[in-house]
Amino acid sequence: MRILIVEDEIDLCDSIAEGLQIDGYAVDTCNDGKAAYVLITTEIYDLIVLDLNLPGMDGIDILKEVRKTHKDIKVLILSARSSIADKVLGLDVGANDYLAKPFAFEELEARIRSLLRRTFIQENTVLTWETLSLDTVGRTAYVNDVTILLTRKELALLEYFLLNQSKVISQEELMEHVWNMEADSFSNAVRVHIASLRKKLKAIMGYDPIATKIGEGYYLNGGKSC
Ligand code: CA
Repeated sequence: MRILIVEDEIDLCDSIAEGLQIDGYAVDTCNDGKAAYVLITTEIYDLIVLDLNLPGMDGIDILKEVRKTHKDIKVLILSARSSIADKVLGLDVGANDYLAKPFAFEELEARIRSLLRRTFIQENTVLTWETLSLDTVGRTAYVNDVTILLTRKELALLEYFLLNQSKVISQEELMEHVWNMEADSFSNAVRVHIASLRKKLKAIMGYDPIATKIGEGYYLNGGKSC
């Protein structure tokens, strides 16, 4: 899942980014309102953490503009403006959630998880498919009850597969949702991480659950036909 943090307090911005990266998200940051608007309309994000008092362009104006073209992107306002009127305005112009500063990082994490679950109509914090499960809170994957040791990137890939169980997912889509802006889209990062994920899953499941559709992408494929 890819997240943009728009926040002009650089220390706060960096510490939120660091925490969310540890949680396994691909994170980009932006400290200016206008630049943020450009990023949101040119890159692909699953969720935006949006401050309101920003240089260049106010967060409310960014949100109003973004909502004209991007209805589905999840936006969580994180602001020092904490009156009821501010919250009502933020939600009315299209924010999906509103958290006032000061805040506890655990609460921000929980609200982000909740919003992203809604994106994929997923009600449980544990994602499952056949014998595989992934605990999105503890960031751990299991086959039956045996833990699989995965890197952060492998976990993020597996999470994306589990959230999109019935579709073929292209390399470009994985690049857009699992990597941040610094990733080189011409690199073979997706292939390398998919290969190592497959190897680990196969070692414990007895078969490779990730199938390739030539020229299209990857999809989850059961070991036995039913
Ligand atoms: Ca600010």
